[in-house]
Amino acid sequence: MFQTMLRYRTTVAGSLPKPAWLAETEKIWPAWRLAGDELAAGKHDATILAVAEQTRAGIACCSDGEQSRVHFVHGFLEALDGIDPTKRVRRGIRDNRYEADCPSIVGGIRRARPVHLNEARTARAFAPNALKFTLPGPMTIVDTLYDDHYRDRKAAAFAFAAVLNAEMRDLADAGVDTIQLDEPAFNVFFDEVEAWGIDAIDRAFDGIAVRKAVHVCYGYGIEANIAWKRQLGEHWDQYEQIFPFLSRSSADEISIELAGSHVPPRVLAGLREKDVAVGVIDVASNAIETPEEVAATIARAAEFVPRERIIASTNCGMAPMPRAIAYAKLAALGAGARLAGISGS
Ligand code: ZN
Repeated sequence: MFQTMLRYRTTVAGSLPKPAWLAETEKIWPAWRLAGDELAAGKHDATILAVAEQTRAGIACCSDGEQSRVHFVHGFLEALDGIDPTKRVRRGIRDNRYEADCPSIVGGIRRARPVHLNEARTARAFAPNALKFTLPGPMTIVDTLYDDHYRDRKAAAFAFAAVLNAEMRDLADAGVDTIQLDEPAFNVFFDEVEAWGIDAIDRAFDGIAVRKAVHVCYGYGIEANIAWKRQLGEHWDQYEQIFPFLSRSSADEISIELAGSHVPPRVLAGLREKDVAVGVIDVASNAIETPEEVAATIARAAEFVPRERIIASTNCGMAPMPRAIAYAKLAALGAGARLAGISGS
């Protein structure tokens, strides 16, 4: 049986809070506080800090903390041809859960140059162990834009899958160990997941030789998401609907949320042969988990997933959280994984 190596056994979903000198704090779409060369230098320094803080917390597979992008979707799009970031259209996203001012697709999507290579190289230089890099998934990208060109979600998604594939090849060459696609939209558009969402992910991952992950979640801990979760009731069955499709994807690892949620742990059994990055840290609460609580969440998952396939992670990105709280939670994650015996010393 495939045994997940120790270097992957603790990780984060992706984003971490940015320092106050770099960007506005506790916002999903923060304004930068630097510009030009100073902004570039600030992103570099913040990436080093994010890696150092994760390492100190005992996270084996670090991310760059997404310190160089304004938002987990829009940061990738800023560098692509065919997107006009200034032509913003307000639209309801995630099936009208909340409104966002979205950049427009105005022409064919092309990647003229690597988007995230600088920060991947910085994180690689400072991460002592494995390095994970996140990119937005094709369906989530399409659901976070205004499409004035393709006017067809599947066609647009496959255009993005092709540029994601090119970006992944550069990231893999730079020494990234895990590449993760973030697909929170999968938890909303079940018919599209089945019809073309998995195919779009497989197109993006085509020929990529590093570890491949997909993150599906209930979103950042913002008010609109918290209200949405409230009306989902006591048993969240979204994962149950999409796990059969994710199981047949080319992904090696599926990243999901469990801590503080109403996800019934039994649905995890539906992921079959995949490694499961289990969210053991609630990003919608500022209460800091104890290591014992983290270990208890891992134990709940272990009832339905073989222990050797469990990776301890955060429920979702931590970008909008207070920074000190986020890092205290990561320390609990590292300590809890040790307590549960799924990570090294
Ligand atoms: Zn998430």
